[in-house]
Amino acid sequence: MNYIAPGIPADENERLAELAALNVLDTTAEEDFDSLARLAAFICGTPISLVSLVDAKRQWFKARVGLDAAETPRDISFCTHAIADPDQLFIVTDASKDKRFRENPLVTGDPNIRFYAGMPLKTGEGSAVGTLCVIDRVPRDLSVMQREALVTLSNAVVAQLNLRRRLSRHEQYYAMLARVSARIARTTDIEGLCSEACHAGVELGGLRMAWIGRLDIPSGNVQPVAWATSKGRLAESMVCSIAIDPFERALASEAIASRHPRVCNDLATVSHASPGGVWHQHGLLASAILPLAVDDVLWGTMSLYAGRKNFFDPFYLDRANELAADISFGIDRLQKTRDIHYLSFYDTVTGLPNQAGFEDKFGTLAPQIHCGCLLVVGMEQLDHVAAAYGAGAIDSVLKQVAQRLQAHAPHRAIAALVRRRLFALFVPDEDPANFSRFATQHLAAALSAPYSIDDVQVGCAIHLGASFFPDDGKTIGALLTAAERAVQSARSLQQTFRFYNKKIDETTTVQLRLEGELRKAISRREFVNYYQPKIDLATGRIVGAEALMRWLHPERGLVSPAEFIPVLESSGLILEAGRQALGRAIIDYCTWRDAGLGTPRIAVNVTALQLRDQNFITDIQHELAAGKCDPVALSIELTESSLMTAEQQVRGVLQALREIGILVAIDDFGTGYSSLSYLVTLPIDELKIDRAFIMRMTTEPAYMGLVNTIISLAHNLNLKVVAEGIENNEQANLLRLLRCDQAQGYLYSKPVPADDFAAMLARNII
Ligand code: C2E
Ligand code: MG
Ligand code: MG
Repeated sequence: MNYIAPGIPADENERLAELAALNVLDTTAEEDFDSLARLAAFICGTPISLVSLVDAKRQWFKARVGLDAAETPRDISFCTHAIADPDQLFIVTDASKDKRFRENPLVTGDPNIRFYAGMPLKTGEGSAVGTLCVIDRVPRDLSVMQREALVTLSNAVVAQLNLRRRLSRHEQYYAMLARVSARIARTTDIEGLCSEACHAGVELGGLRMAWIGRLDIPSGNVQPVAWATSKGRLAESMVCSIAIDPFERALASEAIASRHPRVCNDLATVSHASPGGVWHQHGLLASAILPLAVDDVLWGTMSLYAGRKNFFDPFYLDRANELAADISFGIDRLQKTRDIHYLSFYDTVTGLPNQAGFEDKFGTLAPQIHCGCLLVVGMEQLDHVAAAYGAGAIDSVLKQVAQRLQAHAPHRAIAALVRRRLFALFVPDEDPANFSRFATQHLAAALSAPYSIDDVQVGCAIHLGASFFPDDGKTIGALLTAAERAVQSARSLQQTFRFYNKKIDETTTVQLRLEGELRKAISRREFVNYYQPKIDLATGRIVGAEALMRWLHPERGLVSPAEFIPVLESSGLILEAGRQALGRAIIDYCTWRDAGLGTPRIAVNVTALQLRDQNFITDIQHELAAGKCDPVALSIELTESSLMTAEQQVRGVLQALREIGILVAIDDFGTGYSSLSYLVTLPIDELKIDRAFIMRMTTEPAYMGLVNTIISLAHNLNLKVVAEGIENNEQANLLRLLRCDQAQGYLYSKPVPADDFAAMLARNII
């Protein structure tokens, strides 16, 4: 096609931004524009008149007279030629003779343009967004009067467009303000509010970018809190780089110092001051910085950027100031709400929840738990501290108590300062015995360590009291009252810790006392092994021994395991006590062996906790090596329940024992809920039928049937069967008939001290 396409104006980007800001493209026809177009056609005597707006790729007609098309491609439009000089009327008297147009399809075809006169529409300061033009299908010209009329009418179109822009700006800005106000009403966080304001500024306020920063008063720096850009995501790093730009900082300082907006409507003129040219890179041509003051105290700034020079006119700044005032109001409201919430739920000195906060947190936790312990800390001598070091010293001590309490608080526990000097700690799903241990062994020690007041170390006695949820109360109020009573009784009895509930208190006290004694007993090696023989039912000879622990109490004499094994287990002391029992069994075995007594294997009872101990196997190997003892010396007895837990890990330990050559027996078989078919998947060698079955088998046929089944099933699985608690010959005879392998019980011998057992072995006459 042989026509000359119009050039692109140098400031095309700004021109298009201006056109977009008018918000007029693709809108419906409006009488204000149509009447001006009609007037132009009437005065100039042309069949066609257009208000044409030149978009990036097309010209679009806001008003048209005598033409059907709503738009044409930009590269064939006459108007694009016309706007090349925004201040001049552009006239083509005969397009068919003009080399720029004679091949133009608008000339060669419909609407067969010959004459064109277009006056550019300059709405902003620079280039034109389009034209008011008149067109004829015959060559001709305009009179001077007609030309003047066309210029006047084009000014009227420009005025109309500007009015439109102002109206649309009003609409948009009020929508922007409304959006921020709506957010203020429902937002709960300052960051959310700031982010909404930035997005509203970009999406409705025609900005290219906006960010809000918080002022750090000592350094004068402004730290970005929220931001938004019209171009997708904006990296925090970019906002930060703009925030520290020297020009930006200078402008922000001026805004902060004067407490008035500061505007730079042409950032290109200061680009030399900022070699990085951050604004330039992001197409930011004008900026305004608004100070945000909350309760008359400067809070931060809002920085606005536009992609157009001279964007921030007085109208815009008025709206922006309203926006800033709204944001400041919102921040103020949120800060006050937060302060009120904080003051009502937290203690300001320690930062711990106060009673209301404690109740609030407990209320959330309570439905999720079964039980729990509430502890109250009674701080004695705080008045002495105040008298000696001043009231401020109390705050310092309270802060330290709070820190220690939090440092020792178990997972999910809630620490609180429920009254001025009363600390509380709620530990969910904790059983009283464990809690007593925690309170007396860890917390009491931590809280009674000296407190620093300035450079002085001050001791402060404490008493602890606890109540148990839900037994002692279902609300914090009731639990606190009970725990405070417990503190009082601890105080009057001069004890460190007490439970409110008498029964719990007694059992935990007894248990704790026993625990302390057991600890001492372990270190003093007060435990001994008694031995009970295992008899081969076919031959009547001793073929094994079970080591049974006894406590030789210095005052109480021999204490039975039923009394202390559960406490050893719950306190974890069984690890050391069990190690000692194994060690003694090995030593006794070696003694008997060395005395030539034809010593049988010694079975040692082992608990689940010991099996889970990582050193269990190596400890046994170590003891065996120390006594130069063969693994044939040992077997271990495990209860069914200990085999049900930690299955994978237990399997590994049992396997390792088998590899060493130590046999494994299942003790008290029949009391648990495991099935034989499950147990035989484990590497075990022996089954010990519980005494309860043996006791009832001679009187109840069902039990005899059960024992019979257990024995034959076990034999099918290659397990040796031992019957426990044989007390009479009838039981022994029956078991012999049922082909039980071994028997153990008072019929043969009660558990006896090592020396007596050696004598028994020497006689081997049973
Ligand atoms: P267990 O391992 O089932 O031991 C058998 C218990 O039955 C022993 O009680 C034994 O004295 C008792 N007994 C044996 N024959 C008869 C009988 O004919 N009639 C009656 N009424 N009782 C009989 P003991 O010595 O009081 O031990 C009780 C439990 O304490 C043991 O039950 C075992 O589970 C645990 N235990 C004992 N020593 C240790 C140890 O060193 N470590 C661990 N972890 N537990 C041990
Ligand atoms: Mg046993
Ligand atoms: Mg048993």
